[in-house]
Amino acid sequence: MENKKIIRLFKLAAELMELHDENPFKVRSYVNGAATLELVEEPLAGMSQATLESIQGVGKGIAAKIIEINEAGSFAELDQMLAATPPGVVEMLRIKGIGPKKVRTIWKELGTETVEELLEACEQDKLSKLKGFGAKTQENIKQALLFTQQNRGKLLYAEAEPAAEELLQTIKQALPDAKVEVVGDVRRRMEIVESLQFVVATDNYTDACEKLSKIDVLEQDVRNSGPRVWRGNYSLNGLTVEIRLVDDACFANEVVLRSASEAHLTQVFAAGKCMLNVLREENHKTEEDVYNAAGMAFIVPELREGTNELQLAMDNKLPKLLELSDLKGILHNHSTYSDGAHTLEQMATFCRDMGYQYLGISDHSKTASYAGGLREGDVLRQQKEIDELNQKLAPFKIFKGIESDILTDGSLDYEEDILKTFDFIVASVHSVLNMDEKKATQRLITAIENPYTTMLGHPTGRLLLRREGYPINHKMVIDACAANNVIIEINANPWRLDLDWRHVQYALEKGVMLSINPDAHHTSGYDDMKYGVLVGRKGGLTKEMTFNAKPVEEVEAYFNKRKAGI
Ligand SMILES: [Zn+2]
Ligand SMILES: [Zn+2]
Repeated sequence: MENKKIIRLFKLAAELMELHDENPFKVRSYVNGAATLELVEEPLAGMSQATLESIQGVGKGIAAKIIEINEAGSFAELDQMLAATPPGVVEMLRIKGIGPKKVRTIWKELGTETVEELLEACEQDKLSKLKGFGAKTQENIKQALLFTQQNRGKLLYAEAEPAAEELLQTIKQALPDAKVEVVGDVRRRMEIVESLQFVVATDNYTDACEKLSKIDVLEQDVRNSGPRVWRGNYSLNGLTVEIRLVDDACFANEVVLRSASEAHLTQVFAAGKCMLNVLREENHKTEEDVYNAAGMAFIVPELREGTNELQLAMDNKLPKLLELSDLKGILHNHSTYSDGAHTLEQMATFCRDMGYQYLGISDHSKTASYAGGLREGDVLRQQKEIDELNQKLAPFKIFKGIESDILTDGSLDYEEDILKTFDFIVASVHSVLNMDEKKATQRLITAIENPYTTMLGHPTGRLLLRREGYPINHKMVIDACAANNVIIEINANPWRLDLDWRHVQYALEKGVMLSINPDAHHTSGYDDMKYGVLVGRKGGLTKEMTFNAKPVEEVEAYFNKRKAGI
């Protein structure tokens, strides 16, 4: 089992103990255990009891439980607590804004055991009357519940893509002679995936369907299946699965049909012709042949959205899309100076060892006290360490940055004498997320107009499937970035993916550069850059318009020139 999953089990155990009102010292030991494990780089699976105990902060008890998890996928104490808790109550622990103590009150005092009952209790104004709740908490819980209800059965791309890949291999094993391709949301690189879809070429539908139904991780929904389509669920994550069976001759056409948006298929691109007509006219051997027959250049699945890709393909002007290997450095990262898990030096050497030329460190600013934001003294201390590390690690370079909170009036978080010590400043909103569109947009624009702002961080603050972002007028924000020469980040954390790909094209039209930033709080966070690259590609981003595709000298010159202009 991956470290992440093991850690998640310990966190769940801590929450359940608190829910069951266990000894606070015991709860703490689990919380601390999980925090310690987050710092371990090596895979915990396969380590012996003795090796585990040799890790600082890991005691006998935690070590034994890791061994148990490796053998059984869980540990007895956790299983006992889960058995003693209604599943709906466990689900409540996932609701934003309420901790185990409040869930306990809801469960024990209202007798509410499912999230549906909880929503009803909110609507009947029962929750606000409980001790420690109030009308505001009730409203927040209600909104969070409605949001989750809408998003049930959906997964983040980062979780769905490996699941699709695993299932693809399983299907190929079950049908070794068939051609199989992943299609649908995953192939189009949608940020949220609603179903896993595949196309299978076969000459024996009945036999193929039978073999699919024997795959143990798939549960068929017989009522919604037909002779040419297998529908059901992937038992490992509950996502719906759709497998379309076609003749070998129709395979390429079907793959195009199932890996494109409706707008892409129905948009007229020449003399009353759309892609649907092209697909119906004739079967083609490859996807490239389909687009050839339409008289245009090949369009990759992530661009098949019906924006302007058909016209560009007709004119042979499709952009050469950014690749992960084009990136030269990693900007917007956190260290132990604020809420990161690794030290500045660890973050830097890891980045260097991955082959990058530079790291931009941007810990939280002083207002973000909940995230260990840096006070003025800390900033200067960190910058001194950066100078020393830059000597030691040259030619690798660490740029001095900060993720400055954008305060409610749009101002940045330090006085000018501190602001001017940074090479670059990422300006982000982290608090008061409930402004209306007009106020939230103005707040961002004020920050963008601040001459010290180099880059706008996660523009909407959204957390996919968990929290809607604050509403902003994207065009106005992008226009302001263009006017003030401010870069916009594509925050590559799979929960954020913000700037959304739907706005990338407009930013490019306005000449605004984008930066693929992992917002890493851990060395493993660097791996998220691949998701940011996919978002950029989906919006048509090229290497030329990607700020961190620039080599170190150019980035340094850019920061210097910008600072000199203030
Ligand atoms: Zn942030
Ligand atoms: Zn950050």
